[in-house]
Amino acid sequence: MSMGLPSFRAYVGLGGNLGDVPATFRDVLARLAAVPSTEVEGVSSLYRTKPVDATGPDFLNAVVAVRTSLGPLELLGVLQSIERAHNRERPYRNAPRTLDLDLLWFGGLELNRPELTVPHPRMHQRAFVLAPLAELVSKLPPDTANQGGNPVLPEASAIEAYSQTQGIERLNELKP
Ligand code: AMP
Repeated sequence: MSMGLPSFRAYVGLGGNLGDVPATFRDVLARLAAVPSTEVEGVSSLYRTKPVDATGPDFLNAVVAVRTSLGPLELLGVLQSIERAHNRERPYRNAPRTLDLDLLWFGGLELNRPELTVPHPRMHQRAFVLAPLAELVSKLPPDTANQGGNPVLPEASAIEAYSQTQGIERLNELKP
């Protein structure tokens, strides 16, 4: 990535419950690594979640950290094009899908626009986001490259309690 531009660490949430989800997630990592001015800094383990208000296969979730010189809307555009490449059919709202990508955090920026709200407004209620995000934040060196700091998360014991209530199970590492 070019050294002159400011860069930001962003955390991206991955979810899916159709098809070979680990293969889909590995493809997301490869596509993110190929984005200009962007590198993948780290990946959480895979987590399995029972569908709560829905029938169908279990969901898999993970979180990826990228460092990027793209702006938040540009990064969202990249995520949406990767989603589109994997979700050719979306017959109805909240239909099962092979891939859902959420921009959870972008360098501490607070943005509230129709097309993008960061930090992601629902991330604090969802153990399937909090558990992999907390794992990854603790694995990476703190982000000191900008003023935005690092995501503020509930205590580990609280995340553990949400995970048990919400039936979240940590699986293996997601290897690129
Ligand atoms: P979904 O059905 O969950 O894929 O929702 C996608 C919609 O949410 C898109 O229209 C996005 O513009 C919007 N959106 C708002 N904030 C975010 C965010 N932080 N990450 C991803 N999508 C977002």
